[in-house]
Amino acid sequence: MTTLERVLYPYGELFNYGVLLHCPETQRTACVDSGDAEASLAAAKNQGWSITDIWVTHHHHDHTDGVLELKEKTGASVIGPNLPDTPILGVDHVISDGDVFDFAGRGVTAIHTPGHTLDMINFYLPAESLLFAGDTLFTLGCGRVFEGDASMMWKSLLKLAALPKDTIVYSSHEYTLANAEFAVTVDPDNAALHEQVQNVKNRRANDEPTIPSTLAMELNTNPFLRPDDPAIRKHLNMQEASDAEVFAEIRRRKDEF
Ligand code: ZN
Ligand code: FE
Repeated sequence: MTTLERVLYPYGELFNYGVLLHCPETQRTACVDSGDAEASLAAAKNQGWSITDIWVTHHHHDHTDGVLELKEKTGASVIGPNLPDTPILGVDHVISDGDVFDFAGRGVTAIHTPGHTLDMINFYLPAESLLFAGDTLFTLGCGRVFEGDASMMWKSLLKLAALPKDTIVYSSHEYTLANAEFAVTVDPDNAALHEQVQNVKNRRANDEPTIPSTLAMELNTNPFLRPDDPAIRKHLNMQEASDAEVFAEIRRRKDEF
């Protein structure tokens, strides 16, 4: 089996990234989220691909505004969450935690990671070591906790942290420079973090995306995955606190940063 081809494309005012995932053998193409149907169609056209599947991570408009139009124009089938309080128009197949579906002969596992929203689903392809983390895990950051609470978000991040370290992590926004500025304030003595900060500064200076990342990189540099780190705990003066409490404090500080 050849590996799936991937394309990242930016859209919108919130520095979103969409991703297309393409199987050259079956010609299936999955579009992960669509906040802008025209942007998704242009990215597919640019590759000579036709979108056959749409995977939706959560109900926020910057991830769903293009879904219906894209579905109408391509005939793609739409997979995603669909909670009664936060419906997503156009979803054909509702998925929940642990569900596995097929894409071009690969299993795709739905991982429910509530916190940013209650409906958040991340898509994991073990055969390709690929994770689509939506607005749960960002490069050097994590999503704001809008609908859940900090302990719920921490449990969700633990699910992602348990995946294999070589997992390639696609998140949905280019927020990395701001995340980096914050990260060094809670983890100032982390040499791997400083190296990564320089790396992302160089990438952004060249107008290159800082996505995807890897789980190994995030575990070593992303403060939101490191509340168990002794240096961070000492810096926050929270040596006796639980990981969830330290995470909540880091999230609170980022919200005020
Ligand atoms: Zn969102
Ligand atoms: Fe978003």
